[in-house]
Amino acid sequence: MIIKCSKCNKSLEESEFDKRKTSKSGYSPWCKDCRRAYSRKYSSERRKNDPGYLVKLKLSKAKHLRSEKGRQKRREYRQLEKVKEQEKEYGRQYYYANKEKRLKTASDWFKKHPDKRKIYNRSFYDKVKNDPLYRLSQRLRRLIKIACRKKGLIKRKSTFKLLGFTPMDVFNALKQYLDKPCIICGVVIIDILSSSSHLDHIIPISVAKTMEDIIRLNQLSNLRLICRTCNIKKSDNY
Ligand SMILES: [Zn+2]
Ligand SMILES: [Zn+2]
Repeated sequence: MIIKCSKCNKSLEESEFDKRKTSKSGYSPWCKDCRRAYSRKYSSERRKNDPGYLVKLKLSKAKHLRSEKGRQKRREYRQLEKVKEQEKEYGRQYYYANKEKRLKTASDWFKKHPDKRKIYNRSFYDKVKNDPLYRLSQRLRRLIKIACRKKGLIKRKSTFKLLGFTPMDVFNALKQYLDKPCIICGVVIIDILSSSSHLDHIIPISVAKTMEDIIRLNQLSNLRLICRTCNIKKSDNY
């Protein structure tokens, strides 16, 4: 059905008109564009002249947000890829901008819940101690985090998303060094679960200047396991 808008006089499809039960045709006499333009103008004028109007708008917005319809709308909106990415970015910015506050909140929480802290620490250290995969990925994560901090870079993705491989890939690539003598000193036996073995960057990660450098230097071909002593010596000499 084609309807003529009584405001702009354009003949348009019925989908361009809001439904209105009380009118004869079943549709609003003005097209959607005209109605929108009018309410925008009306609203901006009222905002200027009627201070109570702002309060009213605020209340009706809050009511809408609480309603089931509003909630559903928001859920849908937050599912959009673009919005998800944006929210993540805000989160990151907040994370770095409020470092002190974050640390204080966390330490306050742990002070209030000493038992939970114990459980948390124990489970973390148990995992690091007993799970070779987790231990390796945790070390890689830590080394990258430190490198980023030193260069003032912000890591915007999770470590393994950034690097493009999995903890299992790291393990497979480093398997060859396990239970053999350190390839530098030939003395210490490399044991993945011992603190005497270190994850080493053949070209040191300290030469990285950009995020791309960090990614490049953390590819599997630049990683190896050597003993702690050799690793410490090496970083002193480089
Ligand atoms: Zn119109
Ligand atoms: Zn060694």
